Amino acid sequence: MSGDCIFCKIASGSLSTEFLVETDQLVAFRDLNPVAPTHILVIPKRHIESLAHIEASDGALLGEIMLAIKELAKEQGLEKGFRVVANTGPDGGQSVHHLHFHLIGGRSLQWPPG
Ligand code: 5GP
Ligand code: ZN
Repeated sequence: MSGDCIFCKIASGSLSTEFLVETDQLVAFRDLNPVAPTHILVIPKRHIESLAHIEASDGALLGEIMLAIKELAKEQGLEKGFRVVANTGPDGGQSVHHLHFHLIGGRSLQWPPG
């Protein structure tokens, strides 16, 4: 837990955010400012700053996150497709410095997003 990290607070349950998925290692919850009909964030409970800070030992955790994303996409009815985004660092537009994956879907998504 990193003291002033909003996603650490969410993951610890102290902000009473509704979880769509919770396991020992991860939680998934809806983004506060959705950019599409489905916009879910999947995060590790453990504080990892970004994708630029993962290590080889995080492989199982990252695999669990990807499987959770796949299951969530199925549950949300995103059979036509979806996008997974991990904004990383200043040039990547990362605003919350706790690793998170955006699961975005429910409408046709243009690429590049701009
Ligand atoms: P980033 O820009 O770092 O990739 O994404 C951070 C995301 O977290 C943004 O889409 C923002 O809307 C979302 N967010 C920031 N604070 C909160 C919060 O307190 N609760 C929820 N549910 N989402 C948040
Ligand atoms: Zn954190």
